[in-house]
Amino acid sequence: MPLFEQLDLSLPTGPSLVVLGRDFALEAKAREMLQQLDATELARAIHVEWNARLFSAAGRADFRRKLVSLNPRLREHDALEIDRTLRHELAHLLAQFRAGRRRVPPHGTEWRKACRDLGIGDESRCHTLPFPIQRRTRRFLYRCPRCGKDFPRVHRIKRAIACLECCRKFNRGKFYRRAQLRLVEPEP
Ligand SMILES: [Zn+2]
Ligand SMILES: [Zn+2]
Repeated sequence: MPLFEQLDLSLPTGPSLVVLGRDFALEAKAREMLQQLDATELARAIHVEWNARLFSAAGRADFRRKLVSLNPRLREHDALEIDRTLRHELAHLLAQFRAGRRRVPPHGTEWRKACRDLGIGDESRCHTLPFPIQRRTRRFLYRCPRCGKDFPRVHRIKRAIACLECCRKFNRGKFYRRAQLRLVEPEP
């Protein structure tokens, strides 16, 4: 009989729950910044998400999907760090948006111009997370097969464990086998 345990997502150094998925507040902020720069189409399409699969990168920008992904571990730092990473990644999208079909180099002139327009003219660093936290993470990534939510863990999970939200939703809070977390990274 598998044990049912309330998932606690706190990381060793991080105090808080790691919330994954889209972040509508950051998305609204991104939209506003882009609108002010007359990148209306991009503003309309922009998505911002927290993605636990970014192991050492602070963020990532996907122009095709108009998507900025942020590493949940950024939350261990202050809001400024989140803001700066958001702008850094937006600058990638903005630079490519302005260039149209021409491909722009990742941290070239166009990107630097976009950084200035987004208020981070002094941006020089790249995507790696600031200081110690990037090292210790050979984390395990589990996923709920029912809702698809990701659960990053520091240690391997030895017992059967299920996604609390799905257990509540589909099985009145009792262990729900179809929401039993599966290891996705490293591949089992
Ligand atoms: Zn970059
Ligand atoms: Zn679930």
